[in-house]
Amino acid sequence: MLFYVNSLMTLSISPEEIRKQTISTQAKSPVSEEEMRQAVRTLLLGMGEDPDREGLRDTPKRVVKALKFLTSGYQQSLDELLNGAVFHENANEMVLVRDIDLFSSCEHHILPILGRAHVAYIPNGKVIGLSKIARICEMYARRLQVQERLTAQIADAIQGLLKPQGVAVVIEATHMCMVMRGVQKPGSWTVTSSMQGLFADDAKTRQEFMDLIRHRPSFH
Ligand SMILES: [Zn+2]
Repeated sequence: MLFYVNSLMTLSISPEEIRKQTISTQAKSPVSEEEMRQAVRTLLLGMGEDPDREGLRDTPKRVVKALKFLTSGYQQSLDELLNGAVFHENANEMVLVRDIDLFSSCEHHILPILGRAHVAYIPNGKVIGLSKIARICEMYARRLQVQERLTAQIADAIQGLLKPQGVAVVIEATHMCMVMRGVQKPGSWTVTSSMQGLFADDAKTRQEFMDLIRHRPSFH
């Protein structure tokens, strides 16, 4: 089953705003690790569990550690992540990085969002290290997200950094909160896209991108 959620322009966040958000989220947590562990212990009790039984004794510690890792994108900023890896280059052909594995957490249930991102841009004098595109996806994925915002944040970050002729981001993902609970629809995929510049304005460019991400490489 395919759910098509088109996020075109619905959640456009300016790069300045993204930077602001990054700074504000880098503030030190007002809650201690011990308090977080206590909260997990309370959750276990609420589930009818015995947090003191052997198998659960270290669970609060492990859950807090896992959650901190899964939201470590709050502690990162674009500047730090890029570390100057933006280069001047006279290329003007589409650059596409496809099938970037994505592991995020939905902000409504703190349950996994698993998927793939495809990111393309058409340079306008500046290019970025290819691995950095995956790192940008990872930074935003490691926060509490909704898929539409994640898609827009990746597109806006690249737009802000490179001022390219166009940027396109498509994310295909499955949401565990829909698969394991709620409507319980395994195999449903949500597709979101954000198109800017030439990808928004020129149907041929957009079609080329869509064809490229649909094509399955033969060496798979
Ligand atoms: Zn959810």
